[in-house]
Amino acid sequence: MPDTLHLINPATETLIQAVPIDDGTTIAQKAQRAHMAQPSWANRPLSDRIEILQRFRDRLVQEGDRLAALLTSETGKPITQSFNELRATPSRIDFFLRHTALVMEPVIMHRDPATDVIPGTAALEEVVTYEPLGVIANISAWNYPYFVGTNVFIPALLTGNTVLYKPSEFATLTGLAIAELLYEVGVPNDVFIPVIGGGVAGAALLNQPLQGVFFTGSHATGLKIAAAAAQQLTRVQLELGGKDPAYVCEDVSVSTVAAALADGAFYNNGQSCCAVERIYVHQHIYDAFIEAFMEAVKGFQLGDPTDAATYLGPVSRKPQLAELQRQVDDAVQKGARLLCGGARVDRPGWYFAPTVLVNVNHEMAVMRDETFGPVIGIQKVASDNEAIALMNDTAYGLTAAVYTPDRPRAVNILSRVRSGTAYWNCCDRVSPYLPWTGRGQSGFGSTLSLDGIRSFVQPRAWHLRQSY
Ligand code: NAD
Repeated sequence: MPDTLHLINPATETLIQAVPIDDGTTIAQKAQRAHMAQPSWANRPLSDRIEILQRFRDRLVQEGDRLAALLTSETGKPITQSFNELRATPSRIDFFLRHTALVMEPVIMHRDPATDVIPGTAALEEVVTYEPLGVIANISAWNYPYFVGTNVFIPALLTGNTVLYKPSEFATLTGLAIAELLYEVGVPNDVFIPVIGGGVAGAALLNQPLQGVFFTGSHATGLKIAAAAAQQLTRVQLELGGKDPAYVCEDVSVSTVAAALADGAFYNNGQSCCAVERIYVHQHIYDAFIEAFMEAVKGFQLGDPTDAATYLGPVSRKPQLAELQRQVDDAVQKGARLLCGGARVDRPGWYFAPTVLVNVNHEMAVMRDETFGPVIGIQKVASDNEAIALMNDTAYGLTAAVYTPDRPRAVNILSRVRSGTAYWNCCDRVSPYLPWTGRGQSGFGSTLSLDGIRSFVQPRAWHLRQSY
């Protein structure tokens, strides 16, 4: 009998379903199938693969309500936000459908005509073509399974790779639903294969021969993934956590910016890699900002995630409650002041009250460690230089935001902050046109954008002489 994974609804703490887990043997069989299937998938015309994945994109739209409900049941994400994720995924897929041909196009880099350069020599062409990597592992996170999943497996499949897809153990049903839809629209079932389980299954997957490992998850797991991939010199890409700062200058309209940043910090219960994790506010507007921020937070409705009015549901993983409490207690013990929240909510489910901390400083874990929950620290600063120093005082480097009407000032500040993404007057947003990439502990490599398609191909250099 295979081991089973017990899928628990974070809002009710009840069992949704038990699903069988893959072990080393079944994972090896799946890897073998993916290897056998890869050449013929890659040999199909790109137009075929585009057509198939266009149908997948359309089915996601048609199945939006059902899939959103499933996502909410296993992650606790409020239903409106689950639906938002599903509604935004097709436009990302569209980007890949439209741009993969451009990336796969052979490029003639150099040509020596036979007679023009050295009379009597042969014509020479130097050409670059782009080929799939082969079989790739896509080890994924639960917080935005459609976004972070499709960012990888759609361009991987379009460019001719086969995919061993390990959904997070906290978004397993969503992973299986994705596989079903892909098969339904014509992706062969050896071309995209789910691998079910947690860290043990993920580690066993990395023991298989692979040509690429694409990981989205925490820094701690990222270190293990990189070490395992190094054993086979497998190409590896890591999209890890963040400690994303936002700096509010003194020249903004305070209430609008406070509301935008409250949403950036608390949307999806703060469980976004690019959630605003710490806020620095210029001292001239600090008091007004805090007042407006608290107004916005008071407006967030906490409750049953299946209710369309709910903005804050439970956190998705039970152990995260202890980590949130650790960060709050550490901050309070070191002199922070709690303006709201600070503890678990007394009701069934893994609810943590939205928490705002002021009088914070960088001695506190809440301003340096990834929080990944509904907790935010807000710190007063006296100058742009102080804000820049604090924004850079982290090992992470995913995103950073500056709010001011003054574009040169924002660009100047952001260019001095170490981050893969720079936001002027916005935060917590992702665009398919731009690379999603990190610095430092936030990882390396890119998804999305043309760079995020190139991640799944390798160049071949052709030296072509007309005659010898
Ligand atoms: P996690 O690191 O706990 O797990 C991620 C995946 O790795 C899961 O599928 C898990 O089963 C698997 N895994 C765990 N141990 C493994 C091992 N030893 N070998 C192979 N696989 C293993 O992360 P999570 O809780 O799923 O996601 C939250 C984290 O992901 C946060 O840190 C968040 O910031 C980050 N994240 C980053 C991005 C980004 O684009 N940069 C996007 C979403 C989430």
